[in-house]
Amino acid sequence: MAAGARAAEPRARGVDLPGFEAGEPDFGAPDYIKDAAVEALKAGQTKYTAARGIVELRTIIAEKLWKENGLKYNPDQIIVNIGGKHSVYEAMQAVLDPNDEVILGTPYWVTYPEAVKLAGATSKIIQTDKDNGYKITPSQLKEAITEKTAMLLINSPNNPGGFTYTPEELKRIAKTVEGTTVTVLSDEIYEKLIYGDTKFVSFASLSDDAYDRTLTLNGFSKTFAMTGWRLGYTAGPLEVIKAMGRLQSHMTSNPVTFAQYAAIAALGDQAGQTIEKMRIEFEKRAKYMAQRLNSIEGIICSEPTGAFYCFPDVSSHYGRNINDVKINGSMDFAKALLEQANVALVPGEPFGCDNNVRLSFACSLEQITKGLDRLEKWLSQ
Ligand code: PMP
Repeated sequence: MAAGARAAEPRARGVDLPGFEAGEPDFGAPDYIKDAAVEALKAGQTKYTAARGIVELRTIIAEKLWKENGLKYNPDQIIVNIGGKHSVYEAMQAVLDPNDEVILGTPYWVTYPEAVKLAGATSKIIQTDKDNGYKITPSQLKEAITEKTAMLLINSPNNPGGFTYTPEELKRIAKTVEGTTVTVLSDEIYEKLIYGDTKFVSFASLSDDAYDRTLTLNGFSKTFAMTGWRLGYTAGPLEVIKAMGRLQSHMTSNPVTFAQYAAIAALGDQAGQTIEKMRIEFEKRAKYMAQRLNSIEGIICSEPTGAFYCFPDVSSHYGRNINDVKINGSMDFAKALLEQANVALVPGEPFGCDNNVRLSFACSLEQITKGLDRLEKWLSQ
């Protein structure tokens, strides 16, 4: 968001500035969802609801989780939150005590460590390896778990990494946490945006043990291009969901009422077709962007298997002077690229990977081509 704000100012002055900073789909919310919101408004759905969300929405979410993810939750085990970000915050408030530790692998979504701090807990960062696709290995995890570990965060498909854990990798992680008291927060918000032969599996579906210790987080922002509607949800053990509900009831009360009705429509019959159209478009861009990035001298990028980000290693350019500006890391890289070549991207440092930068492909192929042409030219000086 900060990278977007920096790019907004020159854009407002009319500077042509292709941007790779967006964390949201460039598509608009589908019409059938907007129509459902309008209908709900006209029907008078403008009052408070149950703080945890209306039972009709929690029921259709339970059906989705059963049909698509093999997860049996009853509607009482589901809470609708005001965006997935709010789900992360509430889950951590409900589960964590001061001085607890939360295990995060690099790269991690920037909100996680901040939400950990807000709960008075501490992040324990596992430095992952590029050669292992930036994924946590069971042995790294085993070493990181102590009696203080209260939570493990798994985010697959991953923001900012654009990678997805395979079902086998997740099974090994599930085995590693067996016999511990670790709660797994599985952030599955990019579930539907997977490419090639990638398979998505919900962490909680891997075993009975995984089911009992997992909070499954998902939402409407990415799958249905509904970022501004602020709708996320969490499913998991009843006691945790109840605790989140108590917090939510005093903090925000219910998610926006007519948006909840629109979310019911979102998950209805037209969902599959709507999502697939966007997924295919993202897949095309993912391939193109990764291939172009790899063709640039000194950039290494794996082809994304999920989400809408490329996360290349650009560190071979660190130490260079470009137009008299020394590039010492990803922050310098992003700033100099913006100021000298009018291209916006997000530095990897805040995600825990200073060797990398994040480029979102939630923008048109035309913008991607223009931005990458400029990046290539800038680096070839
Ligand atoms: N998790 C991840 C990994 C994300 O990237 C985001 C959005 N950037 C979210 C959760 C939360 O999204 P929202 O609050 O819009 O539901």
